[in-house]
Amino acid sequence: MAKIVQTAGRDQLGEFAPMFAAVNDDVLFGEVWNDGTLSPKTRSMLTVTTLVAKGLCDSSFEHHVAFAKKNGVTGREMAALLTHVAFYAGWPNAWAAFRVVTGVYADDPLDLGDPEAHGGVFGLGEPNDAFARYFSGRSWLNPLTDPDETQFVANVTFEPGCRNNWHVHRATRGGGQILLVTDGRGWYQEEGKPARELHPGDTVTIPANVRHWHGAAKDSWFSHVAFEAPGEGCSNEWCEPVSDEDYDALP
Ligand code: MN
Repeated sequence: MAKIVQTAGRDQLGEFAPMFAAVNDDVLFGEVWNDGTLSPKTRSMLTVTTLVAKGLCDSSFEHHVAFAKKNGVTGREMAALLTHVAFYAGWPNAWAAFRVVTGVYADDPLDLGDPEAHGGVFGLGEPNDAFARYFSGRSWLNPLTDPDETQFVANVTFEPGCRNNWHVHRATRGGGQILLVTDGRGWYQEEGKPARELHPGDTVTIPANVRHWHGAAKDSWFSHVAFEAPGEGCSNEWCEPVSDEDYDALP
C-alpha cells in the first residue's frame, strides 16, 4: 500500500502555527492514516461520515471526498454511505453533503480515470495486454505466483462493464478454474444457465470443458483471484464476446 504523505499543514500554517502543522502532517496523516489496522478506504469512509455528522461541507470536506474517491470509494458506495448516514446524522446534513459529493464524482462517476484506486487487497498489477483481445473493456492482471514453478494464480481486475469472452478451460483430466472474489460487484455465467451475481467472499468453481464468462457489473469495478486448477492436457479455448444485448440485460 502506498504511503500517504500530507503537506497541507506546513504549506498553509507552517510559519504561523508550526506545531499544529507538524502534528497535522506528521502525526495525523504521517502515523494515524498510515496505520495499517484500518485501510485508507475505511479511514476515508469514517472521515467523510464524521464530517457529515458535524455538518461540515467546506473545502476540507471536498478534499476528503476527493481523497475517498482516490482511496477506492466508488460513487455507488459514497451514495450508499450518505443514504445510511442521513438517518443518524440528519437529513439536511446528507443533502448538503450530496451537493459536494456529486460535484467531486461528476467528471468520472465510475472512476474510470483512476484504475490505481482499484484492484482490492491483492493489487491491480499491469494492464492485461496479453489477453486484451479476449476481453470487452479494460482489464488488469497481477500474477501472484510464478507459473514456471507452480500453478498459476493471479488477481484479475475489470473496469465497470468489462468482461471476458465466452471461453472454455479444456482438460483431459482434472483442470478447470477457481475464482475467489475480492472486490466490487461482478458476474459469472455458464452457458445455458442464468448469470450469477458475485460479491467479495464469493467462490466460483468452474469445471473443465464448460463454456462460461466472468467480469464486472456495468456500474462497478470488480476483482477476483483466478486459480488454474491442476489437470492434464490443459489449454484455454477463447470464443466470441458476450453480446451487448445479453450483458446489458443484467441488472
Ligand atoms: Mn474462466
